[in-house]
Amino acid sequence: MRLVLLGPPGAGKGTQSARLQEKYGIPQLSTGDMLRAAVKAATPIGLQAKAIMAAGSLVPDEVVIGIVAERIDAPDAKRGFILDGFPRTVKQAEALAEILRGKNMSLDAVIELKVDEAALLSRIEKRASETVAGGGVVRHDDSPEVVRARLDAYRTQTAPVVAYYATKNALTSVDGMAPIATVSTAIDKVLGG
Ligand code: AMP
Repeated sequence: MRLVLLGPPGAGKGTQSARLQEKYGIPQLSTGDMLRAAVKAATPIGLQAKAIMAAGSLVPDEVVIGIVAERIDAPDAKRGFILDGFPRTVKQAEALAEILRGKNMSLDAVIELKVDEAALLSRIEKRASETVAGGGVVRHDDSPEVVRARLDAYRTQTAPVVAYYATKNALTSVDGMAPIATVSTAIDKVLGG
């Protein structure tokens, strides 16, 4: 199964991807996680991405497209994958279509987690306080100012991706404001069980 999960920061993409990874035994490919790992390891991509991520802006398309193209080729992604946080621009969506076409593959579903933007800030604040309570380290880009920038990036650059898949009749929207279990059930229904 090859799946794309779309939705703004805090919509629950990470939670649902992790669950689907367990359920289907396919990897969750989070470009955010890959970029954070690159920043931590101070690779050339990490050095390039660091300040951009800290500001809540998007890393250049060609960088992220390169990362995904390589990751999709890894052995554990042969049976499928869940893309979490990619594509985030129409250019990335077109590149993904091209990459998959080249492998005679296609997406099985593109699911949008629809959420009320006003609720996102408090959700992300909750995620930060839960992380602190659990002894973890809060994501640097989960501060209110940076979250606002990330939401702006979503509105201007990623919302068109939702429209891109909608015009291709490839999009299913799920109410991401519902309780997690309800969202899970709705997604499972889209995926046929
Ligand atoms: P995320 O963990 O998905 O919220 O991503 C964290 C940050 O990584 C984003 O705010 C961007 O700076 C960067 N990023 C992740 N995925 C992408 C992408 N597909 N395109 C551009 N930048 C990305």
